[in-house]
Amino acid sequence: MEIRSSIIALLIIAILIVIFLKRGLPQLLASKIFFGFLVVCFLCNLCEIFEGIVFNNLEDTSSMLKRASQNLYAGTLVLAALVMCLYVYAKTTYKAWISPLAIGIVVIPGAFAFLALAIGDLSYGMEDGRVYNTGEAIAICYLVGAIYIIISLIRVVVLRGRIKRADFTAISAGLITWAGLALFQFFKRDVQVSSIAMVLMAVILFLSLENPKEFFERSMDGIRNRDAFQMTLVEKMAKQKSFFIASVVFTGKTAVMTSSDRNELSSIQVDIGKMAESYIGTVPYLFNWNTLSFFVETPQKVEAFMNMVGGMKESESNYSITFCILEVPKYVKDIDQAVQALTFVSGEYVYAHSTPYLVIDDTVIEKMNLRYTIEDVVRQAVKDKAFDVFYQPILCVADGSFSSAEALVRLRRKENESFISPEDFIPVAEKCGLIKEIDDLVFEKVCSFIAREKLSSYGVKTIEVNLSGNEAVDEHTHSRLVGKMEKYNIPPHFINFEITETSYISNDKAFMENMNKLREKGSSFSMDDFGSGYSNLLEILKMDYALVKLDKEFVWKCLDPDEPENMKMLDYTINFLRDFGLHILAEGVENLDQAKMLIDKNVEFLQGFYYSRPVPEEEFLEFLKSQKGLFEVG
Ligand code: C2E
Ligand code: CA
Ligand code: CA
Repeated sequence: MEIRSSIIALLIIAILIVIFLKRGLPQLLASKIFFGFLVVCFLCNLCEIFEGIVFNNLEDTSSMLKRASQNLYAGTLVLAALVMCLYVYAKTTYKAWISPLAIGIVVIPGAFAFLALAIGDLSYGMEDGRVYNTGEAIAICYLVGAIYIIISLIRVVVLRGRIKRADFTAISAGLITWAGLALFQFFKRDVQVSSIAMVLMAVILFLSLENPKEFFERSMDGIRNRDAFQMTLVEKMAKQKSFFIASVVFTGKTAVMTSSDRNELSSIQVDIGKMAESYIGTVPYLFNWNTLSFFVETPQKVEAFMNMVGGMKESESNYSITFCILEVPKYVKDIDQAVQALTFVSGEYVYAHSTPYLVIDDTVIEKMNLRYTIEDVVRQAVKDKAFDVFYQPILCVADGSFSSAEALVRLRRKENESFISPEDFIPVAEKCGLIKEIDDLVFEKVCSFIAREKLSSYGVKTIEVNLSGNEAVDEHTHSRLVGKMEKYNIPPHFINFEITETSYISNDKAFMENMNKLREKGSSFSMDDFGSGYSNLLEILKMDYALVKLDKEFVWKCLDPDEPENMKMLDYTINFLRDFGLHILAEGVENLDQAKMLIDKNVEFLQGFYYSRPVPEEEFLEFLKSQKGLFEVG
């Protein structure tokens, strides 16, 4: 018998096994079975070589060795076909385990073949000087092997809808080749092709769907990718046993990420992955560019994990780490929700709530649901143009007039639906790229209102319009805004744009250009929410704003009667801003005391519920009329 081809086959299988061992053993059931298949293939080829040696020395071999060589070879051959049958079963089932009943049924023909081997006679034939087995037992083994392969083939064809098209093609091509060769083997026993068929199958599957490389991040050593994560999650959830997804989320300390920042992040992630694998025995998956996730079985291991991550924190420089834990299926019903929760937490939540540890519980899930509900509502509202603009009058202290007002967007909802505050939906609209449409709609309504009602005839000199950060840094913004003002014949000095300063827009080229172009036309700018935490004083001075609006929370804090020393903060701020020639407005004036104190400090403009809440167009006009009457009398 020719043993050279068996040696080559053995080497090929050995290489595949080494690749698996180097890459880390697979996590998925089907892939684990495939690895088992490789091991059986390896043994089968080894046994074939052993049998080849026996054939070549038939005269000098004891009958025990002869039987052993035959039984080992034919036995592993049947075993390989059986394992392939289980592999196909695992690939085409949604379950994460194979039921004992299914295994029992699958094992029956194999058991029959093994029995035949145990009791069958040994007999050999010879053709052109080549020795081969001729016993009945061997024939039965070949037949059983062929039956396994044909059953697998039928299953794949019947359940092809459950696997990817490309996977179906690869598996069925491999099985057809194998079945063909197995039948050939059954009828023509003097040429051994069964093991070749097996190796072909292994190589086809390896190249097309089981190459462990497919499950790893290309540039990150030892880190599995999101596909692998999701497939493993599917299996874990199918088991219906509780487990945890532990995630390490990285948030950069700067808004802009350079490629060296990225490299640094990758290397930290690779280190954490390695540590987790060696200390806790759980493999790392890259869920998002900034999120490493792990499957952890017990709370004790979660704790060990937390200690490990906590321990390495001190040394990190450019990133903050949040350790998130999600218990499945306690807080998430299905795979989609689990993925959604992790996406939400790693994408937005950790940026808004910086915390070293986060348990994803019902509260977080509720926030997530609210966030996605808001997104749906806003999307629909943008489609339906279901936004209104309310106006909140602003008092000019110098002459007691309400010569300006802030335009504030309102989401129109059906009567039975609850109100969603812009405080909640504007940030969502910014995140999902809808803010431009909203701001556009608001500005259109503002312009048409000013023109239609001839607002200037009511003594109004400016309307304050909020411009979101995304808008402010868009290079087309100025032409769009100027276009709208021209369309309605609004003199640009009638509009004052409010901008909430963030560190990322102040240095932006497009922002400067928008500001300069609009200023050239005559519009002005105010800095919104001063004192709420973002503002960089020097940047503000450089930007040359006309007006600074003190944030209402800041105003309340400064005027808090329980903390009189806070008043100093207000004094410093006002004096400082005034030194630089900036006009000052205080927001959130809710009562007369506050108004008096602010007027006392020479704050020039006041805005708040004490004077008026934001009101619809009609009510705003009524308000202006009644004020006019008041002054006429005065
Ligand atoms: P903002 O620009 O700081 O607007 C002032 C907010 O304070 C308004 O909330 C207003 O109703 C509220 N307010 C005014 N006076 C008082 C007071 O005395 N007490 C209290 N408690 N609140 C007062 P609103 O209308 O809910 O808007 C929230 C935020 O949504 C705005 O904060 C602004 O950042 C954003 N926003 C509103 N309309 C627009 C818009 O058309 N475009 C953009 N981009 N953002 C908008
Ligand atoms: Ca504002
Ligand atoms: Ca404000």
